[in-house]
Amino acid sequence: MLQRAASLCYDSLLSLVYPQPCAVCGCSVESRAFGVACAKCWGQTKLFTDDETTCWKCGRLSSATVATEQRELVRCHRCDEQSFTAARACGVYELALRASVLQLKHEPHICRVLTEQLLKVQSQAPLNRATRIIPVPLHRERERARGFNQALVIAVELARATSLPLDETSLQRTSHANRHRAGMDAKGRRDTVANAFQVNYPTMVAGERVLLIDDVFTTGATVSSCAQTLLEAGAAEVYVLTLARPLRY
Ligand SMILES: [Zn+2]
Ligand SMILES: [Zn+2]
Repeated sequence: MLQRAASLCYDSLLSLVYPQPCAVCGCSVESRAFGVACAKCWGQTKLFTDDETTCWKCGRLSSATVATEQRELVRCHRCDEQSFTAARACGVYELALRASVLQLKHEPHICRVLTEQLLKVQSQAPLNRATRIIPVPLHRERERARGFNQALVIAVELARATSLPLDETSLQRTSHANRHRAGMDAKGRRDTVANAFQVNYPTMVAGERVLLIDDVFTTGATVSSCAQTLLEAGAAEVYVLTLARPLRY
């Protein structure tokens, strides 16, 4: 697979240029397992464990105190209209995680710290019910310009780590209408991504519990639109996993 070969190649290139300065604080990064940030910056970055109380559906941090067995009942209700079953992120879009997300727009590589965190979040309920991994497709032109789809890079790593099948062909973009315009509110963004996707092979997703992969969860509009398309094509459930999400949005 081209993406995998590129990642391996990038790995060996990286080992030649280490140590490199931390993209957050400038001190040297101790190991290439940390990617673009140093251990101290990773330590200060909020990575989710299974201990936080969050909206069970969208993963938004909640200040509510609830017993562990009642955590599935917690909802923020801001996400009520979104189509996915549940969304989770590796951590908060800040410091080392923000630097890693930005780096992923330029280099098709995910560091080991992040791969391990992806695997950890995926192995927790409810994402551990997933049967198939699908990356959010990028616009064809943008993918051509960038040379790769960063969601696919994440999906490849996760598929390798979990042995879940990777499906990069069933879900496709149909339009270029979802460019986020400055000043557009959440509803405006929702409208522009509606009907932006289609499922090419409904039999591939029918009855599946899809794990949809993207780099960042912001308003949830894009993944919700993908989820709606997948559910209409017969998917049983659609979970979402991203590298990062804002603390509040
Ligand atoms: Zn640092
Ligand atoms: Zn929510």
